[in-house]
Amino acid sequence: MVFHAGSAVDAGHAEAALRQVREALLPLLDEAAAAGGPMLLVEPSAGGGRSLASRVEQLAPYLDAVERHPWLGVCFDTCHAWAAGHDLAAEGGMTATLDSLVATVGADRLRLVHANDSKDLCGSTRDRHESIGKGAIGEPAFAELMAHPATAGIPIVVETPTEKHVGHAADIATLKRLRP
Ligand SMILES: [Zn+2]
Repeated sequence: MVFHAGSAVDAGHAEAALRQVREALLPLLDEAAAAGGPMLLVEPSAGGGRSLASRVEQLAPYLDAVERHPWLGVCFDTCHAWAAGHDLAAEGGMTATLDSLVATVGADRLRLVHANDSKDLCGSTRDRHESIGKGAIGEPAFAELMAHPATAGIPIVVETPTEKHVGHAADIATLKRLRP
């Protein structure tokens, strides 16, 4: 079950917000784990406002707030990471970002990928998805995504525009073609 990381009203309340995350999330994580229910996956946001987690390094304090609970996984959204300032379009950029994600959260926590290109520039904090290879992130970054060991066996979902009806089918075909 995917949820967004949430945000604080301002910088002065970030600590209090993480305490709220702990109070709300820990009992749910315990309950879901005990019942064999679905894992909860936190999805870092595009970085607007005082987001509690948009850059992948910010997942460290977030996970610490729930004592690195084993039932909390991560959903990585490429458009959000790009908007939050990870330069996925640079050669090796997607690989480096995923390396940094694994270093921050551990090897087994990435459980879902939202593969989306972006209509906006890196660091824009804007969350406008685009079809794979048609936006500012570009196809080579998605080839790196498909080749990264952290995404092996992990479901990948597209949340791309569908106005032209062929949107999702074309995007899925592109990702399959980029798969090594
Ligand atoms: Zn998403």
